[in-house]
Amino acid sequence: MANSDKYEAVIGLEIHAQLSTNSKLFCGDATSFGAAPNTHVSPITLGHPGTLPKTNAKAIEYAIKMGLACGCTIAEDNYFARKNYFYPDLPKGYQTSQHTTPICIGGQVTIKSSDGEKTIQLNRIHLEEDAGKSIHDISPTDTLIDLNRAGTPLIEMVTEPCIHSAEDAFLYVTEVRKLVRWLGVCDGNMEEGSLRCDANVSVRLKGETTLGTKVEVKNLNSIRNIKKAIEFEIDRLIQLKETGGTIIQQTRSFDASNDTTFSIRDKEDANDYRYFPCPDLAPFHLTAAYIKSIQDQLPALPAALKKEWKVTYGLSEYDIEQLCEHKEEADFYIAWTLQTQHYKAAANWILGPIREYLNETNTNYAGLHTAIPYLVELLELVEKGVLSFSVATSKVFKGIMVNPQSPTKFAQDHNLLQTNSADEITTWIDEVLAAHPDKVAEYKKGKKGLIGLFVGEVKKKSQGKADPKIATQLLEEKLSS
Ligand code: ADP
Ligand code: MG
Repeated sequence: MANSDKYEAVIGLEIHAQLSTNSKLFCGDATSFGAAPNTHVSPITLGHPGTLPKTNAKAIEYAIKMGLACGCTIAEDNYFARKNYFYPDLPKGYQTSQHTTPICIGGQVTIKSSDGEKTIQLNRIHLEEDAGKSIHDISPTDTLIDLNRAGTPLIEMVTEPCIHSAEDAFLYVTEVRKLVRWLGVCDGNMEEGSLRCDANVSVRLKGETTLGTKVEVKNLNSIRNIKKAIEFEIDRLIQLKETGGTIIQQTRSFDASNDTTFSIRDKEDANDYRYFPCPDLAPFHLTAAYIKSIQDQLPALPAALKKEWKVTYGLSEYDIEQLCEHKEEADFYIAWTLQTQHYKAAANWILGPIREYLNETNTNYAGLHTAIPYLVELLELVEKGVLSFSVATSKVFKGIMVNPQSPTKFAQDHNLLQTNSADEITTWIDEVLAAHPDKVAEYKKGKKGLIGLFVGEVKKKSQGKADPKIATQLLEEKLSS
């Protein structure tokens, strides 16, 4: 866009993540997705008079986990406040949230942007309950209400206004989704609404230090849409500035059918939510010992693993990124490398034959841990040159998966071990050379590169059993005579 170089975009993101607890934040109603409408709605969820909420300790634990993983300070003294407003899907007439005392303060998330590593500063992570759902697209005349979701525990993660491109916003949300899944505190499923994002966007002239008037795009339910909505808003706001228009503080919504946004309401500066501490819920104190116990249970985080694997194991950036994509896979790699020092080979096995095998058999790593001692042995056979990589992957690995046993024994029983017997290899070499007289002639005329082809043919003929080093040596001797 013309003149867009003059401007800087400023973005702050609010992510709501549904915590993967079995029950709701203040009662025992189930949180499972997809139940028949209004079946998980006890009188507490419905806010009937006289009912008493009770805080779900698991939700607090999950919020602390996320906070610790992001380097937040955990508040020891907490309380829940009522945020009063009326909305049809809010049965109590208020939302129970944390007002001035978020459970996690500050913190950061690191992203790897195209122009280097960046730290996205967090303002807070707080606990609150979700509302129900208004459904506008089933009946042409009525709005339907499903209150199953009402009272589901959420954490809201709020960044500082420190993101400056749609691309970085995209990377940040991707990283947060990975982290909640890694920690097991949220399934990260955006299509089902377990992770939702509001994007606050403003623009200012480069070099300006005050923030421009922001607009907020609500309830973005895919990472792609977050990026599209922000791109659209940045362009729209710059256009407004360039044409002398006025930017008003607005709440907007994204229209995925044409990648644009539209206004849903102008936002008054101060909503009057009449916050006050919830009289039904006791304030809760977290002891330092409790917080430490959660810290101690945190799994190794991707950032630490990435560093270790790069420095100590010498893995490539690509391998590291791949292995840190899913925790089950990273855990498997960790377990395996506790028993072998062929770090790079183990990574190659996971990213190649093991992934392929899990895909083909539609299974996961859970069932593979007991096979680790056999895999350690299998790697050793390949590294020692006793077994070729292709025979190891195509025959031995599959064989020992079907019928768990020592790969050495399996290879012996099936006559698959590589041979370094010159006699045996020479027999294959003779057959290969006899089958390719033209190539032999070319080689003898000086096309030495053909040696690779001959070795390949010998490997094929021997079904992977010929030791390639010895085969090469014998071939060279034969062809030069
Ligand atoms: P609100 O009260 O409207 O929710 P907050 O101050 O709590 O506003 O901020 C909400 C989010 O908006 C935060 O992520 C914050 O970083 C971001 N934000 C605030 N002001 C701006 C601005 N002028 N431009 C872009 N983002 C902003
Ligand atoms: Mg807000």
